[in-house]
Amino acid sequence: MIKAKSKPIKEIFNYIEPYQDVLIVGCGGCVSVCLAGGQKEVNILQTELELLRGKRKPADQFRGYTVERQCNEQYLGALDDMVETADCILSMACGAGVQFLAKKYPDKPVFPAVNTVAIGVDLDIGLYEEQCRACGECVLAYTAGICPVTRCAKGLFNGPCGGTNGEKCEVNPDLNCAWHEIYTRLAAQNRLDNILEIRPPMQWQNQIKRTIVQKGYEQRYYQEEI
Ligand code: SF4
Ligand code: SF4
Repeated sequence: MIKAKSKPIKEIFNYIEPYQDVLIVGCGGCVSVCLAGGQKEVNILQTELELLRGKRKPADQFRGYTVERQCNEQYLGALDDMVETADCILSMACGAGVQFLAKKYPDKPVFPAVNTVAIGVDLDIGLYEEQCRACGECVLAYTAGICPVTRCAKGLFNGPCGGTNGEKCEVNPDLNCAWHEIYTRLAAQNRLDNILEIRPPMQWQNQIKRTIVQKGYEQRYYQEEI
């Protein structure tokens, strides 16, 4: 799932400083699971902003509301009336949700209240680890299920680099070399031939805005999967 972190309160405060009626919109999806932008975090942010603004601009008002998911149009209708009277919107969703709100309500300033950080897994409550950067060219089949884009400091598709120090990464000796781990796991599976073949480098031109059409839905949307 997508992992996000709250922005510093002062940064958020600066965004909304010129506005009087601020609508804080949470999301019940990924950001809720990673404790960054669900209903509880909306309530906390609302209280923090009220305290910060308190004495200086007592007429200002903050309202909070959490939709099921901000990245899906069918959940946004509930916001229409609230948005109409708001001066600006603070979105606590990931970057996709923020952009979706900004597009739906183009006459309202929409500000992000969280930083979208990664696609990751839960290690513990409040502890997450990045696993994927959605590169669009997944090579996990050849790399024993270890992502070279996120795990290797240089994002190498063919490794290790010349600086590898055995098990450790030359960029950060506290981290294991991703390619050492890839080699070790493939060797244990008797699959080292997977990395004998040189893979083409990442096609970074793919890193434009991508549209994803699931298999079986191509006809419905009349466009090819990109
Ligand atoms: S190679 Fe890594 S970044 Fe790319 S899709 Fe696979 S897991 Fe994600
Ligand atoms: S030492 Fe290993 S993980 Fe670090 S940059 Fe080189 S190949 Fe990547």
